[in-house]
Amino acid sequence: MGILPQPSISTDAVVLRAWPCGETSVIASLLTRELGFVRVIAKAARRPHSRLRPLVEPGRLLNVDFSLDQSRELQYLRSGSVDLDPLTHGLSLEQSAFLLAALELVDRCRPMQAADGGSSPADLFDVCDAFIRMLSSLSETDSARIFFAFEWQLLARHGFDPEVKCCASCGAANGIAGVDKVQWFSASEGGLICSVCGRASNVGRPLSQQALEEFKAYDAGTFLEENHLEMNRALRREVGAHLHRFLGFHLPGYRLPTALDLLRPIPRAEENN
Ligand SMILES: [Zn+2]
Repeated sequence: MGILPQPSISTDAVVLRAWPCGETSVIASLLTRELGFVRVIAKAARRPHSRLRPLVEPGRLLNVDFSLDQSRELQYLRSGSVDLDPLTHGLSLEQSAFLLAALELVDRCRPMQAADGGSSPADLFDVCDAFIRMLSSLSETDSARIFFAFEWQLLARHGFDPEVKCCASCGAANGIAGVDKVQWFSASEGGLICSVCGRASNVGRPLSQQALEEFKAYDAGTFLEENHLEMNRALRREVGAHLHRFLGFHLPGYRLPTALDLLRPIPRAEENN
């Protein structure tokens, strides 16, 4: 023998993205519990009977072993097992689009790691892990809410979770809607703002009471526990638009995930009548 064992690590991971490399290999971008973002090469994973083949499908939760050589940008994927494959749970088109959108968001907008004063890799991994499990196990009617709550958690991991308890601008807490019952939401101010600040600064957009209730539930992590009404189309649009602006303002590299294009309503001929 006499050969030193190569250093390696075993960790939980989610496959964010994978693309072919060479004749038969695959490169995959993983978010791991132990090390955060890691790129691995799965040699010959495109061969029909490769045992690495099931380990490079985006969205899967895995336990993997890979080489650990700090001097290399790519680690060698050695072995592993699939913990959860969301696609075997019969996801709808909508659920699949939200899954792909979440993977894209995490891959594009990488929070600072703990060493730089940010969140720990395990924190971010747990957010993704919980999202994928919820999306796979709960009914389709919850999927938009699960995705929005995921976006909220992502903002929190970057240190930018929106203020929802008082006015982010002046701190007013009581009767925030004011006499005219108008409240606002502003990405640049950092969340909810009162009607006085909203009118004065002209940077916010109107926020409905229902949307605020959604935000509070994401903030408290109670969005599935309480008896929330199903989100109708208008509420989904409002919540999605507010979060989109907030993410765009605060997260470097953010753009609307391309997978969400799948959910755009197809223009109908009768709308032209
Ligand atoms: Zn205010």
